Parts: sequence; C-alpha cells; structure tokens
Amino acid sequence: MNMSDTERTRPVIEQMGYEWTDNEEEASLVGILACSVRQKAIDKVYSRIHKWNKRKNKETLLTFVTGCILPSDKDRFLKLFDIVFPMSELQELPDMIKQYGIVTPTSLSSGQNNNAIYQNPRIKELKEKASELKLNEHISDFWHINPNYESDFEAFVPIQNGCDKFCTFCAVPYTRGREVSRPSSEIFEEIQNLINKDYKTITLLGQNVNSYGFDKKGEEVSFPELLRKIGEMGKKSGKEFWVYFTSPHPRDMTDEVIEVIAAYSNLGKQIHLPIQSGDDKLLIKMNRKHSVEKYKHIVDTIRKLIPQATLFTDIIVGFTGETDEQFENTRKIMEEFKYNMAYIAQYSQRPGAVSSRWVDDIPKQIKKERYHTLTQDLIETSSTHNKKMVGNTYRVLVRGMERKGDFISGLTEGKINVRIYSSDDSLIGKIVDVKIKSATEFSVAGELITKEELQSA
Ligand code: SF4
Repeated sequence: MNMSDTERTRPVIEQMGYEWTDNEEEASLVGILACSVRQKAIDKVYSRIHKWNKRKNKETLLTFVTGCILPSDKDRFLKLFDIVFPMSELQELPDMIKQYGIVTPTSLSSGQNNNAIYQNPRIKELKEKASELKLNEHISDFWHINPNYESDFEAFVPIQNGCDKFCTFCAVPYTRGREVSRPSSEIFEEIQNLINKDYKTITLLGQNVNSYGFDKKGEEVSFPELLRKIGEMGKKSGKEFWVYFTSPHPRDMTDEVIEVIAAYSNLGKQIHLPIQSGDDKLLIKMNRKHSVEKYKHIVDTIRKLIPQATLFTDIIVGFTGETDEQFENTRKIMEEFKYNMAYIAQYSQRPGAVSSRWVDDIPKQIKKERYHTLTQDLIETSSTHNKKMVGNTYRVLVRGMERKGDFISGLTEGKINVRIYSSDDSLIGKIVDVKIKSATEFSVAGELITKEELQSA
C-alpha cells in the first residue's frame, strides 16, 4: 500500500515542476509516507524530521508527512512538519505547497520561524483540516491520480481503502478510516491499461480487500464479481500475467472467491490469508470475527479447488493474555495448514488500538521463544513444500539480480523465491521456464529451460 501511495504521490509533485532525486541531501522538498503498523517505522520518522529541521537553519527546505498516521503522532507531527495531510487529500498538496511559499534561510535566520508562516490564513486552514483528519472524504480524488508505476512489469492497484473490522491489536481503522470501495469502472480501466502495457503481475490492494463492494451494496459489483471480470479481461487478452490481492479477511473469504480464482489462469494461485492465532478464545479477544473452524473450511476449499495454490499467513505471538495452551493451538494449526510462508510478529502495543489499553503481560523473552518455535515449525513445512518442487519445471517471473549480482532471481506464480543459474539480466520482467534443482528453507534454485527442452522432456 505504501509503495502504491508513493506511485501516486510522485506525479503530483512532479507536475509542479519538482524533479525527483534519490539523494535526500540535495532535495528542497522532502516528505514521508508513514506506516504505523510497527513503532520502529514511526521512530524513524521522528529521527528524520529532527535531522531535516536542523537543515532548515542553513537551507531552503519544505517538509511533509502523510500516509498511515495515528492521531497521537499526528498532533506531534503538526508541530514538526510544515505540511501534514491524510493521503486522501494528496491532490491538494500542490495547493498547500504554493500557499506555503518558500521557506528561505534568510526568513528563518531573521527569526521568522515556521510558526510565523503558520499565521498565513490559508495554511492555518489547511493545518486545521489536517488536524481533523477526515480520512476518506476525498479518496475518490486520490484514486483519479494517474500513478507513476515504479516498475514496468509489476503494478499495484488500490481497489479499496480503510477498514471496518476493528481488530483489537490494530490501529488501521483509525489511520485509514472506514471502508470505501473504488468504483469498479476505474479499476477495470487501470487494469486494462496495465494489460495493454504487458505487465506481468497486478496486485489489487486494500486494507480489507475482499470486503470490496460492502459499502456500496446494490450499486457496485462484489469482490468475486470483480475478480471474475478481471479473469475475463485476462482471458480475452491471451497474455500471461498473474493477478493477486492483499490482504483479505477470513470472514469475507467466500467459496465463490476461491471458485473464481480456480476458474481463471490469470488469477494467481497464491493466497495470503491472515489467521493471527490458532485459538478461538484469543481470536475473540483479538476481535477477528472468524473462528478456527471457519478458517479451516476456507483452507479445505482452497486445497480441494486449487490444489496447486500456495498458502501464506500472518501470525501474532505473545498477544495480551496468550497462554501456553493457546500458543500450542497456534502451533497445531501451523502443523495442520502447512503454510508455504507465515509472517510471524511478536506482539507490541500500537497506540490508538484497543489492546493498547490492556496490560502487555507476556514477557519479551516468552514472545521471543514463541517466535523462534513457530519459525522452526514454519521452516519444516516450507522446506517440505520446496523439496517437492525439485525436479519439476515452473513458470518464473524474473524480477532482478541477486544481491551479489551473479544470478537472476524471481518468483513462481505461487510466490516462491527462485534463484536462477543465469546472469542474463535481459530476462528481467519476463516469465521463463525454470527446472528446479535444489531447495532451501525459503527458496529454491534451478536452471533455465528452453521451449524445445520443455517439449522434449
Ligand atoms: S482487518 Fe483487522 S488487522 Fe486488518 S486492517 Fe482491519 S483492523 Fe487491522
């Protein structure tokens, strides 16, 4: 989501005549698209802005912050940044910058500090508006911005913003607002454009992507209908590309969604389904609104209808009050669902989330131990999956060179990391056949196979 927001921020700034630079030191306008999921990311925002504010003593610099901002951080950011605004107000950024004028070193050294500039009535109004954080009021304007895609073969398409679920550990509903679905006609237009440009992966984005259309029942298509239409568009194009979506909520994961994914070759056979805990009581405490039984039904349906699909999840260990027995229940579901990948997080309180009012009673050491135990469980299942790939040939999207630069690497349709024994970087952005020769815990390695070799095999 953050990358996708960046892709829409860049053209707005460039339209004003600003030139992009990768060198922060030479920028005269610097901004942050914040993420509040982890405290660490927010701590970095504070260290950056202090550094930038020091620069203002000797040079012209304008600063802004947007993205996922908790109300408590927002109040502090208003004092530190020149401009603070919700992402949905992005189209107003040029106006805000123009109203601001340029903060010159002279004006600063003459004692005209930022507070003086805030006296500008328009700036005051904008700041007050930011402080109200009307999160989703103008989200449709935001969606109208033509993104400047960072990649020419992988794209992110926002289809929905905000969340109505209110999991007790999460602050997203307070930073992104309530669920709003983007008009399907705009989504189809953006996707058709990407298909025409030969994009190889398209990821539909939303905080609660599969609750698409719930806020516009009767006026808008449902999530499975949206997927079906995209599948039809892919079929008509005759092109090879994979469409994914993230993140779905188990409560809204219907059989119909799985049936549609099974029916269309362009709908990627990889499903990321966050479970968070394998214990029903803890799921209730997390306000997840789904049971282990419901989740099990979804996994059974995926295994039955799309046996080749890979399954990813998110899990929190050490949530408030998590007993040894409840943690063991999470281990049991890890064993039962045999995930290809699980993003495991040690619980930490997020200011603004309901659980931040509860005592964080699981000691750090226990969280760490549970994290390591679960990671070991994951390594066993992912290694078993990866070993089964050895000897078989897979379609792999080449995404870049490995860090050391000796090999190219990519992802299978199921998003398994593949190291390819070739240094041919002209293949980046293409889908190739790779015969898997070896497997490790979280990746596989193999060699390129030509069409002829594939046919004679
Ligand atoms: S579903 Fe829960 S975890 Fe996901 S964004 Fe909404 S509140 Fe947060």
